[in-house]
Amino acid sequence: MAKPKVALYWCASCGGCEEAVVDLAEDILKVVDAVDIILWPVAMDFKYKDIEAMPDKSILVSFINGSVRNSEQEHIVKLLRQKSQLVVAFGACAHLGGIPGLANVANRKEIFETAYKLTHTTVNPNNVYPQPVTEIPQGKLTLPEFYDTVKSLDQTIDVDYYLPGCAPPPDLIMKGVLTLLSGNLPPKGTVIASEKSLCETCPRNKTKPDKMVIKEIKRIHEVIADPEKCFLAEGIICVGPATRGGCGERCINANIPCRGCFGPTKEVIDQGAKFLSALASIIDANTEEEAKKITEQIIDPIGLFYMYSLPTSILRRKQGV
Ligand code: SF4
Ligand code: SF4
Ligand code: SF4
Repeated sequence: MAKPKVALYWCASCGGCEEAVVDLAEDILKVVDAVDIILWPVAMDFKYKDIEAMPDKSILVSFINGSVRNSEQEHIVKLLRQKSQLVVAFGACAHLGGIPGLANVANRKEIFETAYKLTHTTVNPNNVYPQPVTEIPQGKLTLPEFYDTVKSLDQTIDVDYYLPGCAPPPDLIMKGVLTLLSGNLPPKGTVIASEKSLCETCPRNKTKPDKMVIKEIKRIHEVIADPEKCFLAEGIICVGPATRGGCGERCINANIPCRGCFGPTKEVIDQGAKFLSALASIIDANTEEEAKKITEQIIDPIGLFYMYSLPTSILRRKQGV
């Protein structure tokens, strides 16, 4: 019997989600044994035209990582949607917009000026910027169009399931793959992780005082964090209260506070706003001035509260650009 066909594709991605597949170690052999990989640009040479020639819905599942930032990525994910029975948003960038989504605080012009003009290592006296089409004597050279706004996968195509995390942990990847191959599918839209918040599963939760108050916010590099105590109780920002559990408390176990890569739980519409609300309830200030003094210690609130979820937040992007 023919094996089910599987595609892996990356959009605006750091490559870490591809590494996560390789990190399956010997388990990857079980996957390769069970499926026929028909597209995996980072690892093997495939041609887009071969995918175009396939009948619609002939791929069982496409795992797509990275956010959607340019016209080539948009074209390929739409093609994969057409050719696939199931599409899985793989990793925080596809799920929520991810770290590339923080570029939504700027527009294309500002990004190009920084990348191709203002950086100290760039010499560009003629102001040459990438163009979608360049005419040369031999013909036309084309580049994908770079969009103003970074999108999550489901802001571009219909998505069936989500594997969260930056990158998703190997045990969750295997669980997702085996579930999809079993045919015993969870409800559409399921995020394959815990339904609880990270705080609920965090071993440090028990160290939270009954009434938690903070008078000062400290950055992780400014202190030696107690390896047993809740970060928030120590005044160190930890986005655990607004984050879905299921990562195995990876950062916490390394004595690093959570930055929210699993995204919000399903009751939460906006992860950053949820965390802000949790933080506001524990800041111990009696006057507006006192509160201002404490909150001014938060450096880069967008980058901190929306590190992984700006494109799918209510804010979505900087307005008026
Ligand atoms: S989710 Fe994380 S590891 Fe995966 S592509 Fe995005 S930044 Fe890289
Ligand atoms: S705030 Fe962070 S350290 Fe504290 S219980 Fe929640 S996840 Fe754990
Ligand atoms: S602790 Fe937070 S940032 Fe770290 S892997 Fe888990 S969800 Fe992601």
